[in-house]
Amino acid sequence: KKILEVTNLHAAVNEIKIVKGLNLVVNAGEIHAIMGKNGSGKSTFAKIIAGHPDYTITNGDITYQHTSILELTPEDRAKRGIFLSFQYPIEIPGVTNADFLRLACNARRIYQGLPEMEPLEFFEYINSKLPLVDLKPSFLTRDVNEGFSGGEKKRNEILQMSILDTKLAVLDETDSGLDIDALRTVANGIKSLANDGNAIILITHYQRLLDYIKPDFVHVMQEGKIIKTGSASLALDLEKYGYDWLKNELK
Ligand code: ADP
Ligand code: MG
Ligand code: MG
Repeated sequence: KKILEVTNLHAAVNEIKIVKGLNLVVNAGEIHAIMGKNGSGKSTFAKIIAGHPDYTITNGDITYQHTSILELTPEDRAKRGIFLSFQYPIEIPGVTNADFLRLACNARRIYQGLPEMEPLEFFEYINSKLPLVDLKPSFLTRDVNEGFSGGEKKRNEILQMSILDTKLAVLDETDSGLDIDALRTVANGIKSLANDGNAIILITHYQRLLDYIKPDFVHVMQEGKIIKTGSASLALDLEKYGYDWLKNELK
């Protein structure tokens, strides 16, 4: 069952072409890794899936659950089960994490035709999810991401993903800045959320996250497109030989 299909995608920001002919098919039950040098367009691709308004699609299409999403707002995409974690999560002063998570959860539930959760009911629900990412209940009453360490922000994102019945998760450098214990916690959290009905795209610069979560496919991105696709072992080769090895390999 196809979840995401990206066809000949071209996109630009401020007239600068960044994505140049990207093709990708992601089916339910699959975990994909996208790797590539800094500046190859990985984060841009993630932001385009999320519907970031700065990026203009100049050619191609993105279908999610067999329908083009190019005209959908970021909120509409989220309601439909697309979850994006960002390389640099934002802080939202004045909004508690619990309220933020409840609003996001209820927006998704309304779309699914489910009743909204009242604050107390939600508090119990979210508390039951905390052990998944090893977060303390005090995180719920603090403002969103404010003063959270890098690791706590990432854990909080996986917590968020866990309550949204995520069908497509795009996790951009979720492993960056994590110490080895936090990496294991976050990786196990992600793994426990993967199921036959959803798909996960892990964008990562290094292969260490993939030691914990074995991807079904590894894609290498260069200059705005996928230049090679392989199995999990491709990530190991890249780690060993570097991206320039691949350049020669493809010649
Ligand atoms: P990656 O995540 O693979 O490191 P990015 O998607 O962040 O790469 O960036 C790809 C390229 O697009 C880079 O050269 C970057 O400078 C450029 N880029 C991204 N966003 C913008 C922007 N808003 N304005 C101009 N250039 C941008
Ligand atoms: Mg699988
Ligand atoms: Mg990036």
